[in-house]
Amino acid sequence: DGARPAVLLTGPVMEDVVEHQLSARCTLVPIETLDASNAAGVRAIATRGKVRVDDALMARLPDLEIVANFGVGYDTVDAAAAARRGVMVTNTPDVLNEEVADLTLGLLLATVRDIVQADRFVRAGGWKAAAFPLGPTLRDRTVGILGMGRIGKAIARRLDAFSVPVVYHTRRPQPDVSYRYYPHLVDMARAVDVLVVIVPGGPATRHLVNAEVLAALGPDGIFINVARGTVVDEAALLAALKERTILAAGLDVFEDEPNVPEGFLALDNVVLLPHVGSSTRYTRGAMGQLVVDNILSWLDGAGPLTPVAETPWPKA
Ligand code: NDP
Repeated sequence: DGARPAVLLTGPVMEDVVEHQLSARCTLVPIETLDASNAAGVRAIATRGKVRVDDALMARLPDLEIVANFGVGYDTVDAAAAARRGVMVTNTPDVLNEEVADLTLGLLLATVRDIVQADRFVRAGGWKAAAFPLGPTLRDRTVGILGMGRIGKAIARRLDAFSVPVVYHTRRPQPDVSYRYYPHLVDMARAVDVLVVIVPGGPATRHLVNAEVLAALGPDGIFINVARGTVVDEAALLAALKERTILAAGLDVFEDEPNVPEGFLALDNVVLLPHVGSSTRYTRGAMGQLVVDNILSWLDGAGPLTPVAETPWPKA
């Protein structure tokens, strides 16, 4: 049916929410089936970050108008290239803020209070032999947040309730928060003993957290990354954990997911999660709905709901 717009799927995108609803109005084209016969007519891409939506892929789609990313982080979409081509890019902001902030506090508490190690201790029968050793505390710590955007603010609000002081580093001070601002990350790392990372991935933030920042965080330092694996120099982090130049880390994200460097697996001072920041049925459903709503709104001529910064709407 020539009148049905086609939507390219770069992989499975929440079959029961996204694919189910889009298939009522569109022809779905799984990327494995993309060829010269069906490339024309693809007006939208729905993507989840496994496959890069780069300039070369967009070049194959002469009728492409919109790329809808499932997830607020769209570092696997070349949004600058899309902008040059006049292609709209959308993401799924806000609907996941509270969920990701919940997980971040859980990961922070698990890391500081050895919750995962304590569970392993009970399962291994250790409690019958001895009490669990006394461990580190969140009390008297200051938390430095790298990134004070939508999710960073939701994390900070939770820390307020825990009576833990919050400071932050971003490129510019955020007008709507009263936490102390550090213009330089390394200065903030020196001043705090918990560093929580929640900035976007991509080239601009690559290895922002390097050996110097980790050294500044210091031997009592706790490092939590719920942003992207690329933001931290993983080799430097592994060395810091091994040599105990920082105390512990909680990681939800890695440079080459799902491959977690072997070195981490052997350490007892790191909590490892499989990128689950937003992964509940409730929040993933809301994210999927926003992907659908962006594409259908666009196809209806009503514009995107949540365009990214590189492709503003209405056009400047
Ligand atoms: P926002 O765009 O609302 O906030 C991003 C923050 O990062 C802003 O405060 C921004 O401030 C700051 N920032 C951006 N670039 C830099 C830089 N180079 N140096 C210092 N600070 C910087 O994003 P969200 O809060 O909605 O999401 C943040 C990221 O979290 C996402 O892009 C995604 O990668 C990740 N994420 C991870 C999840 C998981 O499952 N683990 C789930 C959801 C999101 P300024 O521009 O002033 O520098």
